[in-house]
Amino acid sequence: MTNIAENIASTYVQIRQLEQDFERSDHSVKLLAVSKRQPVGKIRQAWEAGVRDFGENYLQEALPKMEELADLSICWHYIGPMQSNKTSAIAEHFDWVHSVDRDKLASRLNDQRPAQLGPLNVCVQINLSGEASKSGISLADSTGLCELIAGLANLKLRGLMAIPAPESNFDRQRQCFKELKNKFLDLATHYPSMDTLSMGMSSDFPAAIAEGSTMVRIGTALFGERA
Ligand SMILES: *Cc1c(COP(=O)(O)O)cnc(C)c1O
Repeated sequence: MTNIAENIASTYVQIRQLEQDFERSDHSVKLLAVSKRQPVGKIRQAWEAGVRDFGENYLQEALPKMEELADLSICWHYIGPMQSNKTSAIAEHFDWVHSVDRDKLASRLNDQRPAQLGPLNVCVQINLSGEASKSGISLADSTGLCELIAGLANLKLRGLMAIPAPESNFDRQRQCFKELKNKFLDLATHYPSMDTLSMGMSSDFPAAIAEGSTMVRIGTALFGERA
């Protein structure tokens, strides 16, 4: 049986150790628990173990889970591919979106964000060459999308996200994350609200932390295999 509290504790130990190993500041890396296709009972266990940020990929799955967990003040992150007919529910129910990859989605999220909730935190998803997922904008085109988002009052441009193609070699994993980091550093000089580099999953988060990740999105290593 998966011991979620133990997995979370050992993941935090690894993250803090990697911060030291790669000369990152203490607590500069945040843990986002990816709870897609995991039951609400496991999310509660993770909450009890101290996790406050959870990531979901499928709107139809996320909404009923949010309702069941409404007694916990969870910070919800939408990290899955987005269709434009889903943006209004996403703008209304999530605190963050990591997967904005085109102008139309940014404009719709901005128009549909309820004003009383404050700006929606947004990361632009980049499709690095050879990326496993088909989502994401090219590094070259991301400059224009970031400029658009920075000018929208109901969105707050926080950073970049990517899902690199599976790769087991640590140095090659780093190479991929380095491309994202360099683009991030370049953009962040123009947009001071950018403080988030969303990169690293169960199989590659050490390399992501080595390259400057500020938010690792971890599912399997915390919750076990998905249903
Ligand atoms: C599923 C998913 C993760 C977590 O993957 P694990 O390998 O289970 O850690 C992270 N980010 C995104 C965008 C995902 O879809």
